[in-house]
Amino acid sequence: MPGHGGLKYQQGQHFLLSPDCRDLTINELVKIDEREAYATFCQFRWPETQGRPVCPHCGTLRCYAVRDRKFKCRDCRREFSVTSGTVFAFHKLSFWKMLTAIWMSVNALKGKAALHLSRELGVQYKTAWVLSLKIKEALGLRRVDMELAGEVQMDGKYAGGHIKQKNKAEDRIDRRLKKHQNMKRMCVLALREKNGSGFERTFTRIVREEQGDAAWATVRDHVSRDATVITDEHSSYGDLVGLNEHRHVNHSEMYETEDGTNTNHVESFFSRIQRAYVGIHHRFSLKYFDWYVADLAWREDHRRKSNGQLTALVLLAVMGNPTSRNFCGYWQGNSPPDPNFKDFDQPFTPI
Ligand SMILES: [Zn+2]
Repeated sequence: MPGHGGLKYQQGQHFLLSPDCRDLTINELVKIDEREAYATFCQFRWPETQGRPVCPHCGTLRCYAVRDRKFKCRDCRREFSVTSGTVFAFHKLSFWKMLTAIWMSVNALKGKAALHLSRELGVQYKTAWVLSLKIKEALGLRRVDMELAGEVQMDGKYAGGHIKQKNKAEDRIDRRLKKHQNMKRMCVLALREKNGSGFERTFTRIVREEQGDAAWATVRDHVSRDATVITDEHSSYGDLVGLNEHRHVNHSEMYETEDGTNTNHVESFFSRIQRAYVGIHHRFSLKYFDWYVADLAWREDHRRKSNGQLTALVLLAVMGNPTSRNFCGYWQGNSPPDPNFKDFDQPFTPI
């Protein structure tokens, strides 16, 4: 857009194809000033008008600038800013810091710890934590319309619910047994396309346990009827035959059948979750477990894109999705309710 810098893209050209977006090094980032960072947010909020403000209340272009980067609508007379109604509404950080936080976050393939971000940006830990969770929440919304096609591998992985063992051997319990597990143990249900194109999507959902109803409902809602679903021999996948073409590999006998059927693709995603858990985050809060996993799935699916493209994709998600009900004013007492575990067993619904 004329008169503005930042992450440029030309009218009529998809910004992800623009050379400016392919790579974003730290040298380029430090040359961007606050004015240019602000212009970048405007471009991603209002791409159809190349960053010119559009009233979020009535949709008119008849707006004028007032003060503090606020605009006023000539038609409905209401005021708004570039972040009004978006995930970053009521932000406290400068646009440059928000842009830098996104850039730092996408550079870390397995995720970025909030403590690490807070030290690098010079902001409080809770500020960095809320910012990174808002990004995760926005990225997770891509699942709403997701319909996987072709070959889809599906599997479940249990996580959380760690029980500390007693000091004395005779007091210790067998933590593998169901009767000894606690309510914090959850299952990540993951479905992953395998087509070798490099554009494979991963759908995730958190369920209480690997059971048939959740698997069936997820395939019904998020897998094309033409797709072939591949799972292991777990009994919860038995009913899928009536829904989609279903093949399975019996892991107690082999990891890959003679015709090449395997679930290695989804297993490699699980190993990424494991490494993020052990090496980066150290713990996932159960309340936000769904978003952590959805964020890792997003990273997995876009791992071959440059950091400029990834920054642009996150900007699109945060500026194109509505204000977080869960995080706006989080530290003013508007925290989400304690998780009702029953909710995790329901099909995924957008927030
Ligand atoms: Zn208006």
